[in-house]
Amino acid sequence: MDKKTDSSWQYGDETKAVHAGAQPDPVTGARNTPIYQTTSYVFDSVEHAADLFNLQTFGFIYSRLTNPTVAVLEERMAALENGRASVCAASGHAIQFLTFFSLLEPGDHFIASRNLYGGSITQFGVSFKRLGWNVTFVDPTDPENFRNAVTAKTKAIFIEVLANPGGIVLDLEAISAVAKDAHVPLIVDNTLATPYLLQPMNWGADLVVHSTTKFLSGHGTSMGGVLIESGKFDWAADDRFPTMTQPDPAYHGLTFYETFGDFGFTMKTRAVGLRDFGPAMAPANAFYTITAIESLPARMDRHVSNAMAVAEFLEAHPKVKRVSYAGLRSSPYYDLAKKYLPKGAGAVFTFELTGGYEAGVKMVESVNLFSHLANVGDTRSLILHPASTTHRQLTDQQRDAAGAGADVIRLSIGQETAADLIHDLDRGLSAV
Ligand SMILES: *Cc1c(COP(=O)(O)O)cnc(C)c1O
Repeated sequence: MDKKTDSSWQYGDETKAVHAGAQPDPVTGARNTPIYQTTSYVFDSVEHAADLFNLQTFGFIYSRLTNPTVAVLEERMAALENGRASVCAASGHAIQFLTFFSLLEPGDHFIASRNLYGGSITQFGVSFKRLGWNVTFVDPTDPENFRNAVTAKTKAIFIEVLANPGGIVLDLEAISAVAKDAHVPLIVDNTLATPYLLQPMNWGADLVVHSTTKFLSGHGTSMGGVLIESGKFDWAADDRFPTMTQPDPAYHGLTFYETFGDFGFTMKTRAVGLRDFGPAMAPANAFYTITAIESLPARMDRHVSNAMAVAEFLEAHPKVKRVSYAGLRSSPYYDLAKKYLPKGAGAVFTFELTGGYEAGVKMVESVNLFSHLANVGDTRSLILHPASTTHRQLTDQQRDAAGAGADVIRLSIGQETAADLIHDLDRGLSAV
């Protein structure tokens, strides 16, 4: 951040959100991070170019691999997650693909929570299967279910600690202990909590991924994904991870763990995954996301206090059967939320109406301030009736299992005046 500061001082998260990874531009003095809208970078000499291509010196070659604006976001996210290093991609799903590409060979296996973002369930269960990457989904509310699913081919455990829909909070410390016993990395999708509410690496997570599309970019403007590594996982403890410990034919025989140590996993993901599959983050999207992260702490505080006010209003309303928000005392996840998310249980949750499918449709059609759409983590409040939209193709039983029954409504609470949100929902409920 600043050369003049005393190195024993640890900056707080709010300071890191504003400063980490960024400096005034050395040539122009520009205080804000410029959008380096360039595909490529001039080499100092032939030798410099050769060193860059051999990964013997760090610098910029081509924006599919690295870009100075994206690099600021990578450094900021590593700082906010208390990680060692980080790499960005074009979307949350792109970074999930690249993370598993760095870990798995065809025939390998991983275990995932069954309470994940719907798109992740399809990505893992259907599309990854075609690559020979096998997943077992388990009920994550009992950590022993992960232990029971471990096989000789298992290479990772993947969870969302704060999961939607359903307001579930998992016992991160216990699941992390299972991953340690099995000697596989624990990957946490921290999208819904953000590093402001939860830093999974402080509880033993080895890798963290985000869809930066949501609360991090925060204003519904920019797609993106990021992977952060803790640097603490020992890839060489056994022969389970040849992708990290054996010479990589995709990079003229380089052994990523031996060469780069505690940032070997992100180096591999960049130098092989991003290079060969190409889903690089656009510099402009990195710029919007960096700018938004500067206000992340203040935004999350407001998201959380609004969510709490709305959840309390709904819980007291006669037309509402149940509210699944882990910040409420009535939630079975209240104690876990207090432990892992002391600043608040996020701003995405569901509630159930008393009137069935028709009531759900009526509700989303009757609100004004809430936007009816399929996203979360916007400054604007969002509403969705999963049964008539995202979960339409499923059977009634499948919908109930996914926490998306006929009368379930999902909310992502924004930054507006809490009383206005409550007024809008009250009008919607009157129409039901
Ligand atoms: C949106 C989302 C994703 C996928 O991210 P994209 O940026 O849409 O590709 C993954 N996980 C969670 C929890 C999400 O909310």
